[in-house]
Amino acid sequence: MNRSDEIGTLAASVNEMAQKLRSDYQQLQALNEKQRQFFADITHEVRNPLHTIMGSLEMLELPGLDEEKRRKYVRNLRSQAERIGRLFKDLMTLQRFDSDEKFVIPGHADLADIVQDVVDWYQYSARSKGISLEYDTHSCMVYADPGKIEQVLENLISNAIKFTNEGTISVTYSRNNGLVEVSVSDTGIGIPEAHWGRLFDRFYRTDKARSRDKGGTGLGLSVVKGILKAHDSDIQLESEVGKGSRFFFVLKSSESVQMKNRETPQDT
Ligand code: ADP
Repeated sequence: MNRSDEIGTLAASVNEMAQKLRSDYQQLQALNEKQRQFFADITHEVRNPLHTIMGSLEMLELPGLDEEKRRKYVRNLRSQAERIGRLFKDLMTLQRFDSDEKFVIPGHADLADIVQDVVDWYQYSARSKGISLEYDTHSCMVYADPGKIEQVLENLISNAIKFTNEGTISVTYSRNNGLVEVSVSDTGIGIPEAHWGRLFDRFYRTDKARSRDKGGTGLGLSVVKGILKAHDSDIQLESEVGKGSRFFFVLKSSESVQMKNRETPQDT
């Protein structure tokens, strides 16, 4: 290789390295921007309820406050404190997706028990909005982490209640080919298709003011997606504006996992 060829090869590899560096730098910048946005969102989400808490505390300190107003401000304090609590619970869950291999500990569990527990919790708030909360009760064994699937259903059912004014919410499940499809449907406001792609992003809402007003954190669906991903599953959506939404996902049935284990015995 003569000298000018050598210089040519060297120049090509320097150019290649420069391109790689540029693309790494751009990726890093995009990551930084994502992180910056994430922290800005968290700050915003915490600042809002804190303002309400400070305001309510100031009102409670006023002399001669009547009993009705006192109760109203205490109610405000409680609901805003609960909102901050929910925000941190969701954030902790999101943080664990990335860092904890044992985030999901699957076992054999009956969906009937999981659904019953969650429905019991939400029956009161559904009824007080004039919503009928219907659900399946037949036994159906799945291979999943029961606590995490409870969290998925909690988020889906609480959303369904938030975005439905009167009507019906149904929680159903059925077995099909070794899989169990679980579905939460409502007759609420529905979701325009333009939002479907970003709905599961952290802090994404179709209507920020409305969601905050209803005590939402904007993290519920990203938590749902992360939990299902850890179960090798995903969340699906069908929705029609003004008619309602259906969120659904599949889990492995207990039987299919037991059968697979029999076919491929583990090394001891
Ligand atoms: P939020 O705390 O705001 O409910 P989520 O991540 O759980 O956050 O949901 C994101 C957004 O998706 C909500 O703000 C709302 O705009 C929309 N959404 C979720 N579930 C429903 C539903 N069942 N009906 C209508 N809109 C919904």
